[in-house]
Amino acid sequence: VKKNLLIGIGFDLHPLRARRKLILGGVEIPYHKGLLGHSDGDVLCHAICDALLSALGESDIGSLFPNSDPQYKNISSLILLREVMGRLRKYKRRVMNLSAVIICQEPKLSLYFQTIKERLSAVLLIPKEKIGLSAKTTENLFFIGKKAAIASLAVVLVGE
Ligand code: MG
Repeated sequence: VKKNLLIGIGFDLHPLRARRKLILGGVEIPYHKGLLGHSDGDVLCHAICDALLSALGESDIGSLFPNSDPQYKNISSLILLREVMGRLRKYKRRVMNLSAVIICQEPKLSLYFQTIKERLSAVLLIPKEKIGLSAKTTENLFFIGKKAAIASLAVVLVGE
């Protein structure tokens, strides 16, 4: 049995707006709207960052990368994720696996899961097989169902 495992959970939601690129897990997904945010609005990367920071007992990305700071304007969230991975290294820890859900009415995301897994595996330094992704709609209900937002939940296991 592996010892010293840490678990972390993260959540994020951003509104969908016209004239924005839709970026999820660092991958641009063709759609007529994208996520609004100070960064590129990548809810999946943000949920993963928060899950990792939470596992380490650190504060969330909002305090680490304040949205009042112009250097993070429109920044790729993969860069934020890389910075969080740097913190993990400082603790001499590594990601064991990632399990994440994207809650989204449209577009259909499963077509992009392989590409997203490849992108994330390169940053998280784990094989694609250690990344589990699922996509859920809210059956046309609530803000997400009305295509006004996309949310994501992520759980990570961090080992030594
Ligand atoms: Mg966010």
